[in-house]
Amino acid sequence: MEMPDKDTLKEMQDRLTLTPRLVWDHLDRGERDQVMAYAERYKHFLDHAKTEREAVLEVQRLARDRGFIDLQSNQQGDKVFFNYRGKIIALAVLGQKPVSQGLRLLAAHIDSPRLDLKQNPLYEETDLVYLKTHYYGGIKKYQWLARPLALHGVIFTAAGEPITLRLGEDPADPVFTVCDLLPHLARKVQMDKKVDEAFIGEKMNLLAGSLPLGDKETKERFKLHLLNLLSQRYGLTEEDLISAELEAVPAGPARDLGWDRSLVGGYGQDDRSSAFAALEALLDVDQPSCTCLTLLVDKEEVGSAGNTSAQSILLEELVARLLARQGESPALRRQALMQSQAISCDVAAALDPDWPEVFEKRNAARLGYGVVLTKYTGHGGKYHANDAHAEYISRIRSIFNQHNVIWQAAGLGKIDEGGGGTIAKFLAAYGMDIVDCGPALLSMHSPFEVGSKADLYMTYKAYRSFLSSLS
Ligand code: MN
Ligand code: MN
Repeated sequence: MEMPDKDTLKEMQDRLTLTPRLVWDHLDRGERDQVMAYAERYKHFLDHAKTEREAVLEVQRLARDRGFIDLQSNQQGDKVFFNYRGKIIALAVLGQKPVSQGLRLLAAHIDSPRLDLKQNPLYEETDLVYLKTHYYGGIKKYQWLARPLALHGVIFTAAGEPITLRLGEDPADPVFTVCDLLPHLARKVQMDKKVDEAFIGEKMNLLAGSLPLGDKETKERFKLHLLNLLSQRYGLTEEDLISAELEAVPAGPARDLGWDRSLVGGYGQDDRSSAFAALEALLDVDQPSCTCLTLLVDKEEVGSAGNTSAQSILLEELVARLLARQGESPALRRQALMQSQAISCDVAAALDPDWPEVFEKRNAARLGYGVVLTKYTGHGGKYHANDAHAEYISRIRSIFNQHNVIWQAAGLGKIDEGGGGTIAKFLAAYGMDIVDCGPALLSMHSPFEVGSKADLYMTYKAYRSFLSSLS
C-alpha cells in the first residue's frame, strides 16, 4: 500500500477516529448564552427541590404554569401531570398516535442521600439536645460532619394536620450540625482506623439546642425546653415526631463554581440534574407523534423499594390511565410499555484527576464532554446491570447525532473497583428499550456535588431530541 499524504492522513483521522468533543469548543455565542441561562434555572430548581417532596411540588408548580392539568381531574387537555403521594410525579403530553403503540419515556429519581431523623429522635446528653439520625442512601459519613445542615420535611400532628418544615435555608434561620471529634483526641478512635470503622452511624446525631427550662429540679429540662418551643411554634408534642419525615440536608443554595463560573456546585445533583433536564425537555414538547412521559420517582438511592419507587406498579397504573384518557382499553398497558422507548436519566461519574487509579480512562466520562451514554451499570461481571441492546444504542446515537447533541460513551469505573445501579433495570422488566444517559458529576453523593454547565445543558438537549425524534 502506498503511503497516504499528510492531508489524506488528516482526513482519515477525522473520518475514522472517535474524537471526544469538548462542549465549550462547539457552542456558538447564542448557545453559550442558553447554557448559562439554563444553569440559572437549574440552580433555582436545586434550591427549591432539596427533598423528593419539594421536588414534586416544584415540578407540579412549573407544569401548572405551562398549562398542564391534573390527570385525575375531568378537565380536557393533552398535557397532564400525575402526583402520587407527593413523592412521585409524572408529566405527560399525549401524542397523535395511540398510547398502546408505545411511549417516549424519560425517567429520573428525585431522592438524594441525606440524614433522616429517627422515629424517636429527641434526647439530651450532658445538657445538650440532640436529634438522632439514620443515614439514607450511600454516603461517606465523614462528609456530613461539621457542616451546617437544614431540616426539611413534614410532621403530622395528633389530629393528622401536616406541618411543613424547611429550616436552615434562610440566612436568618438557625441550622443544625453533626459535630466531629477534634484532631487532638482523634488519634486512636479515628485516625488509626479504617474510614468505615472511624465514622459511625450512631454517632451521627444533630446538635439541636442547649437552653434549659425550669431549674435543676426539672427533669430533662434541656429537652423540655426544645419540646416547649416546638409546642408553642407548631403545636407539636414528642409523639408527633414519630409521624414525621424530617431530612437533614446540606444548608444553603447551589452555587456557581470556579472563577470562570463554568460549573455548578450543590447538593442533590444526583439526580436532580437529570430530573430537571427531563422536566424542561418535556415542557418543550408540543403535539408529539408518540405520547411523551417524564417520570420522576422516589427511593432510587435505597434500591427502589416501596410504593413510590420505580419498582412499584405505579407506572403500569399511570399508563392505564393515559390509555383510558385516549379512549383505549387500560388492558393494553403492558403492550404500551413493551413498545416504549426510554431513557433512564441518571448521572455518571466524571473522571477525577485526583483519583485516576479507580477510573479506566478510555471508558470514563469527562466533565465538559457532553451527556454520557452508559450502556450498562452494575458491578463486577455486569451483575445487576441493565445492559442496553446494541440496536437501541444505535437508535439513540443516531438521534443525538442528528440533533447536534454532544455526547460521550462511558462506564462507571475500573472493573471490580466498585459499581452502582439505576432504575433502568426495573423499567426494562416491562420489555421496553431503555438505556442510562445523563450528565457526569464530580464528588457524586457528597453534600456538594459538581457538574459542568455545558454538560447539564447538553443533557437537556439530548432528552429533548429524544422526545422529539420521529417514530
Ligand atoms: Mn442517581
Ligand atoms: Mn445516587
